[in-house]
Amino acid sequence: MNAEASNAVVRFVDATWQRSILPTLTEYIRIPNKSPAFDPEWEQRGHMQAAVELLDHWCDSVPLRHHDRRIVTLAGRTPLLFIDIPATGDGSTALLYGHYDKQPEFTGWAPGLSPWEPVLRDGKLYGRGGADDGYALFASLTAIAALEEAGIPHGRCVVIIEGCEESGSFDLPHYIEALEDEIGQPDLVVCLDAECGNYDQLWLTTSLRGMLPGVLSVDVLTEGQHSGAAGGIVPSSFRLLRGLLERVENAATGELHEALHTAIPPESRAELEAAAAVLGDGIISRFPWLEGVAPVSGDAAQLLVQNTWYPSLATVGLSGAPEIGDAGNTLRPGTSAKLVFRLPPTLDAGEAARSVKTLLEANPPPGAKVAFDLETPQTGWRAPPTAPWLKSALDQASRRHFGQTAMSMGMGGTIPFMKMLGDAYPDVQFMVTGVLGPKSNAHGPNEFLHIATARKLTACVADVLATL
Ligand SMILES: [Zn+2]
Repeated sequence: MNAEASNAVVRFVDATWQRSILPTLTEYIRIPNKSPAFDPEWEQRGHMQAAVELLDHWCDSVPLRHHDRRIVTLAGRTPLLFIDIPATGDGSTALLYGHYDKQPEFTGWAPGLSPWEPVLRDGKLYGRGGADDGYALFASLTAIAALEEAGIPHGRCVVIIEGCEESGSFDLPHYIEALEDEIGQPDLVVCLDAECGNYDQLWLTTSLRGMLPGVLSVDVLTEGQHSGAAGGIVPSSFRLLRGLLERVENAATGELHEALHTAIPPESRAELEAAAAVLGDGIISRFPWLEGVAPVSGDAAQLLVQNTWYPSLATVGLSGAPEIGDAGNTLRPGTSAKLVFRLPPTLDAGEAARSVKTLLEANPPPGAKVAFDLETPQTGWRAPPTAPWLKSALDQASRRHFGQTAMSMGMGGTIPFMKMLGDAYPDVQFMVTGVLGPKSNAHGPNEFLHIATARKLTACVADVLATL
């Protein structure tokens, strides 16, 4: 791409973000479209449909020469926006992926900020779902249109925007099966749902961890009892739950059971060491620490290794206990904890799920009713080696739009579709990237979209598609 064409792409991208994307994304954030796992009533509520229709309508404003577009809805499943844009150049195919379902609200939003009321402040658009992952459709289509407007040929582009990602993408395989012939064989997958280490360069994700969610329940009574009358006779369900957790996680060290570990490839370790050298203290300072709290290791590269190749466990929800202000002196009948394990990229999540279920349920403490109810386990993903043409396209794009070389590293999160695609198309190449950088806090309070990064990333996508 010559300098004049490249400038035209940047002008188009910037103008579209300003004039069209930001106003629509603002409207989009207002739709409280929680993923099915967090809202069983999603279909009746209509937010899912409203969100996908908003995206669909916006596409009408994009000056693409030709495209086929439709909202595909399989019965009882979250709708999927499917767009097929024919090549203006040679025959390679890019598959661009994003999602429009959202995480729940969570607590702790700063004064003046809230999940469903967008706020534009200091170059950031705050609100739930703008960065994760509402912007993906806008960036994808704008990148393609920018090439067409600048007269730069591109390959065929298939855009898939799903509504079930935050629930583990359990609807997606059904759509991929239904659309298999229409999708064809992609040569490149562009996924805009990942993290970036900083906002200074293009970041590629080379691995994702798997995920193993489930609810561990311990029940001991049919109803609560006076804690003085029952204490010493009836075991505490919370104590029994602590003991069960100890079977999979050492509370003193945080170490997880050996069944959840894999060996770390030396090239991944080297890549993380290079990333740590660039990010330095940013690896730690991206989190809102309380004063005096220290990270689990003092070594930056080791922290990245643990975040991307070690298993981890978060207790994301607790049930069976009242709020503290409402708590009487009652020995409760039971305690449940929602556990989310993150798994090393190459560990089979189904096998890990069987191991964990056996560890937690075997030989329960005398008489206690113990169950570990699994949700869908998701195996992680490791990118195939990046082809030289893609590596150089990514690096050039990063230099042009960010002024620095591209970097790559693994990511601690999970995007189920990448594993599905890697299995379905063994020769496909991946550009997995995103705007989830320091403090952007997808899934927590104060989620924001870093607008400058989103614009530059859009231009980078255009540059890479131009090389296909
Ligand atoms: Zn996401």
